[in-house]
Amino acid sequence: MRWVTEVAAVPARSEQTRTVMISAGHSNTDPGAVAQGVTEAEIVLEFRDLVSAALARHGIRHLTDGEDGNNLPLRQAACLAAEADIAIEFHCNAATPAATGTETLSRRDAFPLAGRLCVETAAILGIANRGAKPENAGQHHRLAFVSDGGGIIHELFFITNASDLGQYQQYREALADRVARIIAQAARDDKG
Ligand SMILES: [Zn+2]
Repeated sequence: MRWVTEVAAVPARSEQTRTVMISAGHSNTDPGAVAQGVTEAEIVLEFRDLVSAALARHGIRHLTDGEDGNNLPLRQAACLAAEADIAIEFHCNAATPAATGTETLSRRDAFPLAGRLCVETAAILGIANRGAKPENAGQHHRLAFVSDGGGIIHELFFITNASDLGQYQQYREALADRVARIIAQAARDDKG
């Protein structure tokens, strides 16, 4: 794990009142889905690090499940998530080549934040919003993070869809910054 505390000073904003943890789904020993020459593990690790950098720019202290470029196993990530007020783990969906869109899996009390992540991800990537879903809507191996960690699984897009992947590769930095802004707003309980 790594605590990111070297954050930018952001004046004239309310204080951070909730703790934040972000996690990359999978690890080197569990690469997740493999499609189109890329692994889910390498995509979500890169994305976690982009979101971590963006959170630091937005002045949000947070915990990650590993140093830059490193990813702890899911079971350890779930333990870390349980300690945080806001915990989000990034994954890619996998299905038939035509399946597209973004969605989240979480407990119902996280639906407001999860829904915002879905809306903004769909808008930036230009893909369908499949919506905030309950934890049992996804694949079983992902549930430790939700059931034991109380976190949100964010299925960014379908790795098996060439267009989804292309959109992600084009807009990943903008998406990371938007996701970080949504987290920052929730961590500060800003209304606006
Ligand atoms: Zn996954």
